[in-house]
Amino acid sequence: MHPFTYTRVDDVDAAVAAVTTDAVARAVQVPEDAAFIAGGTTQLDLMRDGVWSPGTLVDISRLPLADIEVEDGVDGTVLVVGAAVTMADLARHEAVAGLDVLRDSLLLAASPQLRTMATIGGNVLQRTRCRYFRDPTVSQCNKREPGSGCAAVEGTARMHAVLGVDAGCIALHASDLAVALVALDARVRLHGPDGVRTLPVAELHVRADDDPARDNVLAPGELVTHLEIPVPDARTGYLKVRDRASYEFALTSAAVVARVEDGVLAHVAIGLGGVGSVPWRATRAEEVLRGRPASLALFEEAAAAELADAFTLPGTDFKPELARRTLVRQLRDVTEVTA
Ligand code: SF4
Repeated sequence: MHPFTYTRVDDVDAAVAAVTTDAVARAVQVPEDAAFIAGGTTQLDLMRDGVWSPGTLVDISRLPLADIEVEDGVDGTVLVVGAAVTMADLARHEAVAGLDVLRDSLLLAASPQLRTMATIGGNVLQRTRCRYFRDPTVSQCNKREPGSGCAAVEGTARMHAVLGVDAGCIALHASDLAVALVALDARVRLHGPDGVRTLPVAELHVRADDDPARDNVLAPGELVTHLEIPVPDARTGYLKVRDRASYEFALTSAAVVARVEDGVLAHVAIGLGGVGSVPWRATRAEEVLRGRPASLALFEEAAAAELADAFTLPGTDFKPELARRTLVRQLRDVTEVTA
């Protein structure tokens, strides 16, 4: 591991300033080798592997961002969750008890030890698990070295993405939580050198087929401070399919938020995991479903529409069918429609 400078901050402005030069003059430039760290469950792995070598680590784990507030929003209850809240603390909060999609996306992820350390801010920003990205002896990786190629396309690609990808990069976004958040229409609050802004979680990440070298739209020096999670007037659920029953990433997953009124899908929102270079909002499937009588045949039609343009390789050609079945099963379970 390369030597690095470590500094700890205790307020958000100090954190932003610590990775920003000349912020007062607004000639803002962030040293490329300065970065925030909180739980460190991904970043320390990357540093040990020699994939990532920041010169300065700014420890934000003690920022006052560890609260969970239940607020009355314009359209109902909103959970405002500080970015330093751990996955374990959010999963066991009483406000999450009836929100199955959120609770299960947390409890089905990682191990109890990791959930106790990992923060939700870090979880949604986690980097890809692509084994070639994480092996510095592999020279072909457009995410690490733009223009160098993609070793996964010629290699072993089973745990890779089939949506939002092309031959330049098939890296998968592996956060279960982020998949639930896009289905819940959650927003992320950012604090940076230019102030505070919010944006939908569905707009936080960058698709690999748009720019493999960029994981998210954060501006230099911007820090995730909160997640705003609306509590829907709907039933919800999260189904994760994986190779073993614990401590494993998703082969496929489906987060479903749905309300059926008089047999018709009055509200439906879907996130898919294990298939996308970003937490995948299944807008095509939603368009097929919205406002139509709920039935298994309709669920099949919607799932097929979402996976129609999947980009597959020999190692990932099982994924569209598995994702289709995962989504149909979860639509059926959440809506309790059986025919
Ligand atoms: Fe790199 Fe993306 Fe290819 Fe993995 S899939 S080797 S991250 S370019």
